[in-house]
Formats: sequence, C-alpha cells, structure tokens
Amino acid sequence: MWGKGILTGMRITMRNMLRGPITVKYPYERLEIPERARWAVVPKYDGEGKPKCTACMACVRACPDHILDLEFTTREDKSKHIERYSYEIGACMMCGLCVEACPFDAIEMSHDYELARLDPAELTYDLLADVDAVPVKRARPAATPKAELARADSSPAELSREEASDE
Ligand code: SF4
Ligand code: SF4
Repeated sequence: MWGKGILTGMRITMRNMLRGPITVKYPYERLEIPERARWAVVPKYDGEGKPKCTACMACVRACPDHILDLEFTTREDKSKHIERYSYEIGACMMCGLCVEACPFDAIEMSHDYELARLDPAELTYDLLADVDAVPVKRARPAATPKAELARADSSPAELSREEASDE
C-alpha cells in the first residue's frame, strides 16, 4: 500500500530528526570496544611477568597468512629459548586462528586498534625476543588439544620427521 509506505518513511525520518547526534569526535572521544573485538595479536604473561609461550609452533602452523615466525633454540636439557617471535601486523587479518590454536593461552587478540604506522618497516615486529620458553610440563593448558601438546615436546628435527611421515 502506498499510504502505509509513506507513513513508515515519515516515521523513520521524524525519529532521525529528533534524536541527538551520534557522531564520535575521535580521537577526543572514543567508543568502548566490545569485549570480543579482535585487533593486534599480543603475548600473554603469567603472574610473574614471564611470557606463557612454550614455543610449540601451533600458532605459526595455524596462521593462514603465514605472518607469524618463531625461531628458537633447544638446549641439551630440551628447554627452549625463543630467539624471536615475529609478527607482520600489516598483513594480519585479525582472524584469531592463532589464538584459538594456542594450547597454552599464551597469546590473545588485543583491543589496541590504533595500528597506523608512518614507517612500513614497523608493520613487522617481534612479539617476543630473547626469552626462555615455558617448559610444556609447567605450562597451563588452555583448550588442551592433545596432539599439539605431544608435538610441543618435540625438537624441530622431530617435528620435521613427524610432518614428513604425515604426508
Ligand atoms: S590473527 Fe589470523 S592472520 Fe593474524 S596472525 Fe593470527 S592467524 Fe595469522
Ligand atoms: S605456546 Fe601458543 S603462542 Fe607459543 S608457540 Fe605455542 S601456540 Fe604459539
């Protein structure tokens, strides 16, 4: 009906004419970010301020953009030292798959959305560098995907052998 459509349109017009402004004067005013909003990936730390990462590589394998890179060395006692855990935020699509894949709740999607950089080189940086990884036996599992936990104890050579046998 033509009449009903006109009345509906007028009602919407009147409602918008009478409401107050909804513009946010950013950066002087900021909206509250919803709890589940996803922005840059950041590492998480335990109560003593140490990173929770075990260098299990699950996040690196899960990232569809291949923008996470974790380099670590394994000592004779099998403890791991993270040389660098780099992240190319300029290519991150904030999908959160790395966070979901992490068996140890060691990374999260932050609420920091002011990510513009003047220098493109700053779009790749280290999330962690030159820190000891938490031994898997001491780490607190998050979702506990058992296959990943078992693989986390493996050395890079063992992982390569496992991956070769998987193929
Ligand atoms: S949020 Fe997605 S694209 Fe970004 S690092 Fe994690 S898995 Fe990769
Ligand atoms: S513990 Fe989590 S953040 Fe560290 S390498 Fe494994 S999946 Fe990635």
